[in-house]
Amino acid sequence: MKAFKKVAALLLVVALLATSLVSCGKKSIVDEIKKSGKLTVITEPGFAPFEYIDANGEIAGVDIEIAKKIAEKLGVEAEITAMDFDAIIPAIQAGKANLGAAGITATEERAKSVDFSVNYVDTGLYIIVPEGSAIAGAADIVEGTAVGVQLGTTSDMLVSDITSGISRYKTVADAVVALQSGKIEAVVADELPAKDAVANNTGLVLLEEPLSVEQYALAITKGNEELLEVINEVLGEMIESGEVDKLIQEHMELAAAVG
Ligand code: GLN
Repeated sequence: MKAFKKVAALLLVVALLATSLVSCGKKSIVDEIKKSGKLTVITEPGFAPFEYIDANGEIAGVDIEIAKKIAEKLGVEAEITAMDFDAIIPAIQAGKANLGAAGITATEERAKSVDFSVNYVDTGLYIIVPEGSAIAGAADIVEGTAVGVQLGTTSDMLVSDITSGISRYKTVADAVVALQSGKIEAVVADELPAKDAVANNTGLVLLEEPLSVEQYALAITKGNEELLEVINEVLGEMIESGEVDKLIQEHMELAAAVG
């Protein structure tokens, strides 16, 4: 018994030493960001008003403004890179960028791969149909209905469970093109990008009834508490002051003007 206790005590000492060595050796991501002078941000700029290409050909939008505020708080520049939406969570998981800012719905499934900030937008998924469509609500989307979604999104996950007639596109815009050419009967997409698509295309209607209720959050590589705290502080301030809502209004109009 005594020998067992000794071994246990020794093991504890070794374990403690090992942990302190690891924490000494591991540099905080915040230090790395400050040292490099940039916060690397990934997004998919086909998602107005959160991210879109502005009149100057640059990636702009609510998420970009938030990312810039976070960079500012860290005393660095935000470096924005575009990629397909379905590649964003895997890239953040692998630590290839510091921040995923792409109207990402915080889901339990994704929280297994990345850490999420506080939620900053309450929203949901909506149905877009052509004018005169027989589809009048969620109940009309059934097995066999031909529905277009953006690949790897919550719309993809939800509609996959309802109909095998699902078609997956790289962007919401591609799905809308398919809808207008009659290849599919409806598009399911996030509320504001869906509104933007209806505003910028003729002959489309946004159905009133949401298919789901969701919240957006920013995604970072797991285990970076210090960075998450900075992000949550900035988001908290921007939500509290009404700035997020103001930015949504502003960028809805700006994106509509770009078309
Ligand atoms: N909110 C949706 C999701 O997280 C769609 C996001 C997007 O297309 N940018 O899946």
